Amino acid sequence: MTTLYWFRNDLRLHDNPALHQACQQAEHVLPVILADQTELSVTPWGFARQGPHRTAFRWQAAKGLSESLKARGSTLLCPPEPGLEGLLHFAQRHGVKQVVCETIDAPSEQADIEHLKAAGLQVTSIDQSTLLPMDELPFEARATPTVFTAFRQAIEKAGTQPKAPLLAPDTLPGLPDGVDAADFWQTRDETRVPTPIGPAVPRGSFPYSEAQWQGSEACALAHVARYFESGLPRLYKTTRNGLMGTDYSTKFSPWLAIGALSPRTIWSALRAHEASQGPSDGSYWIWFELLWRDHFRLMMRRFGSQLFAPRGLASKPHEPNTHDPQRLAQWIEGQTGQPFVDAGMRELKMTGYLSNRLRQNVASYLIHEMQGDWRAGAAWFEHALIDYDVSSNQGNWAYIAGVGTDPRGGRRFNVAKQAKDYDQHGEYQHYWSDV
Ligand code: FAD
Repeated sequence: MTTLYWFRNDLRLHDNPALHQACQQAEHVLPVILADQTELSVTPWGFARQGPHRTAFRWQAAKGLSESLKARGSTLLCPPEPGLEGLLHFAQRHGVKQVVCETIDAPSEQADIEHLKAAGLQVTSIDQSTLLPMDELPFEARATPTVFTAFRQAIEKAGTQPKAPLLAPDTLPGLPDGVDAADFWQTRDETRVPTPIGPAVPRGSFPYSEAQWQGSEACALAHVARYFESGLPRLYKTTRNGLMGTDYSTKFSPWLAIGALSPRTIWSALRAHEASQGPSDGSYWIWFELLWRDHFRLMMRRFGSQLFAPRGLASKPHEPNTHDPQRLAQWIEGQTGQPFVDAGMRELKMTGYLSNRLRQNVASYLIHEMQGDWRAGAAWFEHALIDYDVSSNQGNWAYIAGVGTDPRGGRRFNVAKQAKDYDQHGEYQHYWSDV
């Protein structure tokens, strides 16, 4: 029997329960990745869904995955026709009945699964992107408290713990005879993959063109090991609002977003760190922030397409649309005239990464000062971020806009005051001003 394993946002072999299941049940496994279509599809706001940074980073991850599969007797395959139809036709040509993949709760990713099922494939999708086990929560996943504090307290009171991560399989079942898809390598034109950070651009906080920051699983695991061996976790709670450099926060998000890193692997390294160096406010706060990530995933499961509607989860009717393409363009290009916001938007566009502090400020500025449509801001983040994650992004934008899960009804930041508090000497603004 042949099973097709579809790599989605889980570009890793370690702690990949869905891949384990596929390998256990089948004589042959076809590991498939789809060529990125999102870089070609354009949002209603006029730009591509995926910009050059994530394209390059995902490519680095796929390259690493391809090498790891080869070392285990398999190959990463890319069907000759693009997109989901390509996967479907490929499965049909090889007589595949069974597809295994990870679950992604967002509406269009769910629709992809339904499409495969409607075409006659048996699809098993498995929850594996959260830290906490979805079947051991102290409430029904779809009845998760909407307020983060209530969620966290319920988890901590119940003592819900992540499960131990799985090791990567030593070998994979081989391919069946006569596979007509190209090896991932043969389908990629390396000259097309952008290398957007050139010598003229200052070093960003996640410099993924440098060897140790690349998208592969090996780089992700090496980063986790280095991070927890260092003194940084202990300091995390006090440094996490920093703006510049690689050390102020964990920088796990880009690898988590593409699944080159599993949150349970982080958790297990965090526990080992606490066992050897002792727990600290910093180490607790890393767990705390990872719970935010889980909470936004559960909100996506609970509310789905509502999180993409103009009024989000709010009960009040949506205000008339105040979207102005010119104002949006000023914000995107870092030409609003507000120096703190402009510095952040330039950093984002040039490097694909932005600190949490700046994400909050630029989002608040677009929504509350420029009267922009929050969904346009979320769409630009989808384009620009190297760590774009549908649940965290949509959830955070809705939160700030006051149409999400903020019990205070949204966040309006005093951006000038924030600049004084977090960039007292204007170093950050200066750094990104002339580039
Ligand atoms: P750290 O501060 O080191 O945090 C550790 C981990 O905790 C992160 O890697 C992340 O997985 C999780 N985390 C921390 N803060 C949040 C949060 N507010 N929401 C969800 N998870 C969190 N994060 C994404 O991963 N993808 C996105 O597309 C995304 N879009 C955002 C949009 C807006 C408007 C805002 C305000 C925040 C967004 N975030 C998003 C959350 C957060 O800014 C990033 O996760 C964080 O800055 C990543 O850097 P780090 O890994 O060093 O974080």
